[in-house]
Amino acid sequence: MKELNTDKLRIAIADQEIVRGLTLRVPRGEVHALMGPNGSGKSTLAKVLAGHPDYQVTGGKITMDGEDLLELEPDERARRGLFMAFQYPSEIPGVTIANFLRAALQSRLPEGEELEATDYYAKLYEKMELLGMDRSFTSRAVNEGFSGGEKKRTEILQLAMLEPKYAVLDETDSGLDIDALKTVAHGVNSLRGPNLGILLITHYQRLLNYIVPDHVHVMVAGRIVRSGRKELALELEERGYDWARDGAVEPAFR
Ligand code: ADP
Ligand code: MG
Repeated sequence: MKELNTDKLRIAIADQEIVRGLTLRVPRGEVHALMGPNGSGKSTLAKVLAGHPDYQVTGGKITMDGEDLLELEPDERARRGLFMAFQYPSEIPGVTIANFLRAALQSRLPEGEELEATDYYAKLYEKMELLGMDRSFTSRAVNEGFSGGEKKRTEILQLAMLEPKYAVLDETDSGLDIDALKTVAHGVNSLRGPNLGILLITHYQRLLNYIVPDHVHVMVAGRIVRSGRKELALELEERGYDWARDGAVEPAFR
């Protein structure tokens, strides 16, 4: 099975259960949007996928291409091909994007293997071309004085360079201005393809005007209450999360 899979997943923090039996499958080659109101546990899920130590998994499992993810340290997960959008430090003064990405790629190589500078730059420029980014961008220091859009550009370029099997993008940031939004959308649309599964977490339907997902899931209070095709995002925008939650339970059982 080429998929990122959470099965009846339960997550608690400080003895409070946040994710309460979440089952979600993201196959390679598909874009799945995870939506839901604030506080429903979306970012908690993302953090646990990344291996954040503060959260306890109290039930269920997570597998990536059949392999138990919970057994792996965060850096091992990354090496196996899991990309998390927030996996880099927010600001690294003095370190250029080009050097930062080079170090990230180098760290993925087996010990003793050296990343050739010419190969690296060829790949970097190829990816920047694909993403329509200006080459001068990579001589900037990572996130130093960056706008929201520039931070997203770094993130998307990192995603392009690392060529993961699965990418989890938590775009709940309310500071996602139109430039950032378009950067994320253009990046995801350029990089989507048969080798990459994407879990796109967002509170806002607006992002899905630019990225048309294959599947949409609605999470409320730690559970998926509805799944559907792209139309579900539109229906949600029209009717709101209360509709999604209420509709999930047959009236007779409410
Ligand atoms: P979402 O991303 O869907 O808005 P979150 O996963 O951020 O939701 O939060 C879900 C719930 O978990 C919220 O009630 C939040 O207060 C709680 N929570 C998240 N992180 C922590 C934490 N580190 N400590 C205590 N409570 C937390
Ligand atoms: Mg969140």
